[in-house]
Amino acid sequence: MSTAVRDVSVFGDAIAYFNEAAALLNLDEGMRAILTHPSRQVIFSIPFQRDSGQIEVYTGYRVQYNFARGPAKGGIRFHPGVTLDEVTALAFWMTWKCAVVDLPFGGGKGGVTCDPTTLSKSELERITRRYAAELVEIVGPDKDVPAPDVGTTPQTMAWFMDTYSMHVRQNVPGVVTGKPLEIGGSRGRVEATGRGVSLCALDEMERLGIAAKGAKIVVQGFGNVGSIAAKMFADAGCTIVGISDVTGAYVNEGGLDIDGAIAYAQEHHSLDGYRGGDKVSNNVLLEQDCDVLVPAALEKVLTVENAARIKAKLIVEGANGPTTPEADRIFKQNGIIVIPDIVANAGGVTVSYFEWVQDRQGLFWKEPEVNERLKDQLITNFHDVRRVAQARNITYRTAAYMVAIERVVASLKVRGVYA
Ligand code: NAD
Repeated sequence: MSTAVRDVSVFGDAIAYFNEAAALLNLDEGMRAILTHPSRQVIFSIPFQRDSGQIEVYTGYRVQYNFARGPAKGGIRFHPGVTLDEVTALAFWMTWKCAVVDLPFGGGKGGVTCDPTTLSKSELERITRRYAAELVEIVGPDKDVPAPDVGTTPQTMAWFMDTYSMHVRQNVPGVVTGKPLEIGGSRGRVEATGRGVSLCALDEMERLGIAAKGAKIVVQGFGNVGSIAAKMFADAGCTIVGISDVTGAYVNEGGLDIDGAIAYAQEHHSLDGYRGGDKVSNNVLLEQDCDVLVPAALEKVLTVENAARIKAKLIVEGANGPTTPEADRIFKQNGIIVIPDIVANAGGVTVSYFEWVQDRQGLFWKEPEVNERLKDQLITNFHDVRRVAQARNITYRTAAYMVAIERVVASLKVRGVYA
């Protein structure tokens, strides 16, 4: 294993899953060596002037982990905890996420070690423009296509796209995705991750014989992913028996009014004070009696501590890395099915791919077309994962890594090693 990918938080788990799948694939040493080394890591200084006139210097990173299947793809994170190791591990993860849903992209990730909550809008703009300027030679629609991540927004992408376009003297909307609609963003992008979560869940429920109408669903996290997933489940006739956010969890056996909860959360900026259900803790919520549990808030919430008490038949990972490997083993023993993050929450990157396609052709799709293509891309590839899982009697997670690694290896083999 390369020392470049350290056991960083939840991403150590991705490396463990990679190793497990690589062993099942009998991946040779040479391929393992290529896949455990990032193609390119860039680190640079970002000097900038605060509104007060004071000069400060931040550190920026971009890691392009693998290009075998296409340009690098992955977000830009503005957070105080950003390090080269973290960004490398996230780029490693993006490689498998893009491959498992069969997008023509490799994996990438970048970031700036800064606290965006302490920066004004004009300060954020200056940091973003300097960050983009430093990367002009190595990003682009055929090289590396960033997107928003923690601490960055569609506005950040607009500044990035504008800076890049100014440098290359032409308009290049396809250099980033997650842009505002006005400059080449895609319809359906905001809802895509939550939509993908519910599409995967409903597809698996059908296989398990769980009727959508009246199926009991619990969703942890009520932000972009959780609230949209909850709304899609409710629209499909499911009964949402529990939701939560950082302020606590709200349960109602008879079903929560999700439109009402979304309106409440929009008005109050959280669910705090929401009266549509009884308030319990997030820990109690996870152990609630239900058919489907959707962790859509944080990493490592399903652990050896609570896994044995989880009553759901199906867990669909909206968040990245919500299940620890120990909990995963307990779920397998207890016959609880887990649709892993790299498949379940890949709806966002899939519609990012659609945004890149629309930008390049200069023709923009209506929302129903985006949603229909999302369903096809996600479910077709989920079925590939299911076939491997069933044929080998392994979990969806291991099967997902196997499918992803096989695809990247197939591209590498046919391209050959240029030396
Ligand atoms: P968000 O910031 O919009 O929402 C996060 C939600 O989690 C909020 O409701 C917040 O109150 C809640 N939360 C925070 N701490 C909590 C706690 N201790 N207990 C319970 N709830 C808590 O974020 P998001 O975009 O919805 O992302 C959620 C997860 O999904 C993250 O793991 C993210 O990495 C992952 N994800 C997001 C996308 C996307 O397109 N947004 C794509 C892939 C993966």
